[in-house]
This record gives sequence, C-alpha cells and structure tokens, in this order.
Amino acid sequence: MTAIPPIRCELCVIGSGIAGMGAALFAARQGLATAVVGRTGEIIFTTGLLDLMAVHPVEKGVIWDDPWACIAQLVQDQPQHPYARIRPEKIRAALDGTAGFLGENGLAYSGQADRNTMVLTSIGTFKPTYRIPATMAAGIEAYRRRAACLLVDFKGLKGFSAAQIAATAGPSWPGLRTARIEFPDVPTANEVFTERMARALEASAHREKLAAAIRPHLQGAEAVGLPAILGIARPTDVMQDLQRWLKVKVFEIPTIPPGVTGLRLKEAFERGLRKLGVRLCLENKVFQAEANPAGGFRLHAGRSDLEEVIEARAVILATVRFMGGGLKADRSAVSEPLFNLPVYQPEGRDLWHREDFFDPRGHAVNRAGLSVDEDFRPLDASGQPAHPRLFAAGSILAHQDWMRMKCGSGLALSTAWAAVESAKTELKKT
Ligand SMILES: Cc1cc2nc3c(=O)[nH]c(=O)nc-3n(C[C@H](O)[C@H](O)[C@H](O)COP(=O)(O)OP(=O)(O)OC[C@H]3O[C@@H](n4cnc5c(N)ncnc54)[C@H](O)[C@@H]3O)c2cc1C
Repeated sequence: MTAIPPIRCELCVIGSGIAGMGAALFAARQGLATAVVGRTGEIIFTTGLLDLMAVHPVEKGVIWDDPWACIAQLVQDQPQHPYARIRPEKIRAALDGTAGFLGENGLAYSGQADRNTMVLTSIGTFKPTYRIPATMAAGIEAYRRRAACLLVDFKGLKGFSAAQIAATAGPSWPGLRTARIEFPDVPTANEVFTERMARALEASAHREKLAAAIRPHLQGAEAVGLPAILGIARPTDVMQDLQRWLKVKVFEIPTIPPGVTGLRLKEAFERGLRKLGVRLCLENKVFQAEANPAGGFRLHAGRSDLEEVIEARAVILATVRFMGGGLKADRSAVSEPLFNLPVYQPEGRDLWHREDFFDPRGHAVNRAGLSVDEDFRPLDASGQPAHPRLFAAGSILAHQDWMRMKCGSGLALSTAWAAVESAKTELKKT
C-alpha cells in the first residue's frame, strides 16, 4: 500500500463541534497552521443560541440575568469548574470573537452586553441565553412589548405547534394568535422538513409566495413568529425580505433538533474557517493517535478506514462526551478511547445516576470528563500533564454540567480560547 503523504500542521484540533470550530478559529487568528478532524457532532442539534451561564446552583434552578455575576458566584462555589481557570475578559473575547466571525460569515448575532435574554422556545417556555441569532431578535422585542403577534406553523411540519406555543406562553403574552398554513408549492399531504423549507426560502420567489400565504392572517399583528426556516446561508436577508413583503417584524423560534439553526452554525464555521486557511478534514474520525519522538503527534484518520495521516506539533482534544464518542462507557467505567487518558468519574457505576431521571440536581456522570491543569492539559494518573502539547476543550472537560447550567457554547468557546493560548505558548518554547 502506497504511503499516504501526511498533512503537516502546527495544531490539529480533534472534534468539529462548537469547541473544535472555535479552537480552529482562534488558532488561525493567532497565525497557527491548523487542521480540524471531526464528524458532525452536537453542533447540528443545537438551537443556535450561544449560552454563557444562566443557572446556578442547578439544584435550586436559580436563573441569573447577569451571566458574569453568575460565573463569579459559580467559580467561588465550584473552583474545579472550567470557568474558574479562565479570566472573564478572555471568556468575553472568545464569545465576542465568535459572534463577530459568524456575523462576517452570514450569521449575525445580537444580545445585551452583560445580560442574559429570555428567548421563546418551540414548546412555549422562555430560555435564558447570551447571544441570539439576529433572526430571533424581533421576537424578544415583541415579547418585551407584549405586542399583538401571529405565530405561524405549517401543515405537515412535525414537532412545531404554534397552538402549543401560544397555550404555554399565552398567560404571559396575551397578544398571541396562531395560524396553520401550507408551505408554498408543497402538496398538503406531504410531510415538510425545516431544512428543505429553509433551502427553498433562499429563492426570492418562494419568499414572496410565503408572504402571500401569511398576509391574510395578519389582522393587525405587529410581528410574525415562524419556526426557524429562514434560509441557511443568509438568514437575515431572508428575514428582511419577508418583513418588506409583510410590513411587520418577522422572527424565528428554534425548532426541536436537528433544526436548521445548527446546520447554519456548522456551515458558517466551515465557510469562514476555509477562508482563514484552516485545513478541514470533515466527516473523518481519528482512529489512532500516537505521540511521535519529535515531541508532536501522528494521527490516523478517515471515514471508516485510514485515509489521512496528520502530523501535528500540538493537539486539542474537543471530542465531547458520550454522544460524539469522546468518552466511552461500559458496564463498569468511563474511558477516553484515543489517548487512554484517565477520566474523572463517580466511584462506581451505581453512583452514575440518581433514582429520578429528572432530579434537578442532575446526575454525577454528567460531570465526568477530563481533568486538566491551568493550561487545559489533560492530566495523567499521577496528576501531571499527560503530554506537554496535548490540550482539551469543550464538554469533554470534567466538573461541569453545561446542559443544566445553560453554559454550553460559552464553556466550549472559552475553554477553546484558553487551550489555543496555551498551545501557542508551548509551541513557541520549541
Ligand atoms: C440538542 C442540543 C441542544 C443544544 N442547545 C444549546 C443551546 O441552546 N445553547 C448552547 O449554548 N449550547 C447548546 N448545545 C450545546 C452545544 O451545541 C455544544 O454541543 C456543546 O457545547 C458541546 O460542544 P463540543 O464542541 O464540546 O462537542 P460537540 O459539538 O459534540 O463536538 C464534538 C466533536 O468531536 C468529534 N469527535 C469525537 N471523537 C472523535 C474522534 N475520535 N475523531 C474525530 N472527531 C471526533 C465529534 O464527531 C464532534 O464533531 C446543545 C447541544 C445539543 C445536543
């Protein structure tokens, strides 16, 4: 078999989720020759909202308006949480840097400087978050003013009911009305899918037809809420065009996953990272990783078989926990399959979960993961960095329960920022 010429780079990021893509962005901006290897991870499932921090202590379900004050309290109460290792100005730089980058690549974000914002969800509840796709902003304003608002859903679209949203949100938003319509040019009997609807709305003629279908239901509404289907590559343009046709504000509501909001994030990252010269080996998995004598790493990757060899001077592991395969669980323990790193986890299997699945305190196994040093280097069994140039970022890190704390993207991006900074410092030494 002919030898595969290796891809050589300074930094290889393993994982193409929010943490991995963020790390590649920050590394490229720091002038590092960077490659990313990964399959489509949780990013495709995300709502597109960038949470920073909102709930602490989770067992009491306390929601904070000020995410920075929440982080300050959290790191006092939980000094092992990854946020405790990153100064607030670096967390802010990571979030603002990413929002700016996404905006440059067709996905504008908005939000208040130091406050969380409550966003309407697909079940009619309100969720606190930090940065919001610009296509959702008019909904927040309409809710703030309790404006007369029409919620629209579509025949054949599963998992999104305007009537259910209005039933749940109605008590705090009396001006809500609903309408169910056909998506233009789709026969009623057919099931409709958000991605196909979004791609259809990339065409102006289709937007015009949708506006014509919605207009008769307006009846004095000042805003129209739609499932997140306003295009993929340039959602703000699609929204503005619909607003022109309808002469009212239009906003999106995230749908149940997988929705187009995750797909947009993925595609915006890919578009932008290619422009920055990042080498993307997507839909690939690293099967084998070895530290090479020169002090770097040799990674074997491919779809189902070995296709790529990557030689990197440093590596960031951003491989998430169980869903993306960054951690593996068997009948007795949790392990990290690529570097065989020790995993912080509950003493025994019987301690993984609480009796009640919905216990507000969450489950101990949701805080399992890699323990790291101040520079986000995973530790070996003796508590020392496993390798001077191996780093970790994102939800593979231990001591955090991002889902209950509402800190998913904030944690992923800021730990990616910190890991890249440490990698750059380390690479300069050699
Ligand atoms: C349903 C859902 C809703 C969410 N909603 C929100 C939200 O509203 N707000 C928010 O802030 N966050 C949300 N998140 C979380 C957020 O999107 C991120 O998933 C989370 O922060 C973790 O990011 P990550 O990069 O660590 O992991 P992931 O995004 O899962 O990325 C991990 C990557 O590692 C790759 N990988 C694993 N092993 C290997 C290997 N051996 N070789 C190569 N690649 C490998 C996987 O393929 C994947 O690409 C949501 C997540 C889910 C699942």
